[in-house]
Amino acid sequence: MDRYKSTKIAGILGIIGNIFLLVIKAFIGFISNSQAMIADSINSASDIFASLMTFIGNKIASKPGDSDHNFGHR
Ligand SMILES: [Zn+2]
Repeated sequence: MDRYKSTKIAGILGIIGNIFLLVIKAFIGFISNSQAMIADSINSASDIFASLMTFIGNKIASKPGDSDHNFGHR
């Protein structure tokens, strides 16, 4: 497996895992009325964004070379 493929899988797993954590933490935060748990669910939302940036950055970096970028987009 090349590094773009493994980074893509890491990005996707990060997004899925953090969506799962966001939902669980928000649910438990609201039923238990815990502000700390709700705040931590918002932290998971920002982690989804970070994983999305990993995914998008990897997608851009994996593009092959073109006339502007002869050696690729790494
Ligand atoms: Zn280019």
